[in-house]
Amino acid sequence: MTYKSVSVMPQERRANLRARKKRYYQKHKEEIKAYQRDYHKKYYLENPEKYAAYRERARVSKRVYQKEHKHLRKEYLRRMRKELLAAYGGKCSCCGEERYEFLVIDHIHGEGNIERRKFGKGRSDVGSSGFLWFLVKEMKKGLLYKDKYRVLCYNCNNAFAIYGYCPHGNLSAIGR
Ligand SMILES: [Zn+2]
Ligand SMILES: [Zn+2]
Repeated sequence: MTYKSVSVMPQERRANLRARKKRYYQKHKEEIKAYQRDYHKKYYLENPEKYAAYRERARVSKRVYQKEHKHLRKEYLRRMRKELLAAYGGKCSCCGEERYEFLVIDHIHGEGNIERRKFGKGRSDVGSSGFLWFLVKEMKKGLLYKDKYRVLCYNCNNAFAIYGYCPHGNLSAIGR
């Protein structure tokens, strides 16, 4: 069927045809899928270089897409980060700092490094860290781990990380 014949087809008939195709697909789903699988397998075996070229094209276009939409991703990650901080209380548990730009998620038991190593590549921001990304995903499912994580500002967080306590004295020192 050509595009032309589709475009002159009356609305109703087109809808009927679509419904019929859908029914047919539902009924023969497994056969169709098996056929497609075989077809692609055969194609792959017969045309390895075409297939490789196709995969390479897909890979490159994905990379180009990601590059072109980098700003969107950045924006999204920032928004998620803000939401995450808000969900975990939205202010420093030690000094009460509320400006989100100053806030980080802190591992209460001081095992943040282990956690970060486990989840991510060692850096500690959403976008580069699997650890915060994990928390974002959990938050979307409605899961928060407030017994394990809290919000601190960079100052208090740093004091805990380096000295094991914060001079504000509002929170107990990390046991060591
Ligand atoms: Zn603080
Ligand atoms: Zn403090």
